[in-house]
Amino acid sequence: MGSPVSADLLASRQLKTLFGAVDELLYRYANSDIVVLGIGDWKSASAPLARIHSACFAAHYLWSTECDCREQLDMARDHMQQEGAGILLFLDQDGRGNGHAALMRAAVYARRHGCNQAEAYASLGYPPDARSFSGAGVVLRALGVSAVRLMTNNPKKIDAVAQAGIDVVSRSVVSPAAETPWLAGYYQLKAQEGHSVERREQETL
Ligand SMILES: [Zn+2]
Repeated sequence: MGSPVSADLLASRQLKTLFGAVDELLYRYANSDIVVLGIGDWKSASAPLARIHSACFAAHYLWSTECDCREQLDMARDHMQQEGAGILLFLDQDGRGNGHAALMRAAVYARRHGCNQAEAYASLGYPPDARSFSGAGVVLRALGVSAVRLMTNNPKKIDAVAQAGIDVVSRSVVSPAAETPWLAGYYQLKAQEGHSVERREQETL
């Protein structure tokens, strides 16, 4: 079964934020919502900075320091504001697409059994990574974007955007400066999965 090739725009508005007014667009894709924040002059940028960001209840609501989700998002937004343009796409895929409850159960399991997050998900009967990024590529295309500079460490996001027919001209790695012992293990797992874990590297594709 293939993924849907289009996304429906349900609503759009200008939203006032702590960082100034942004465009907020709500898309529906394959029974899930994708929220877009268009920052600054995003509509006329030829290859805007873009970040595909999965929701993280723990980082965004509970100020968790056990993952780098909040810091990655803040870094991406900072870069976009400095440049005067950028596109943030928010996917409802907490806990690697398994939900926050699964993430919490997996964290408890991993701590008790000394295994990593992926092994904990598998032991509890969840897929190690249930996320899909194809909707983000489809939405970028619906926004009229033909090329992006993607802010990601994850090769699956680059593939999803390229598969939607969008030219990924470069990608920059977003990693926080501080590292806790817990984060070190988290990065080790990400590296095993093919993510770039070097700091603030920029690469032309
Ligand atoms: Zn997180």
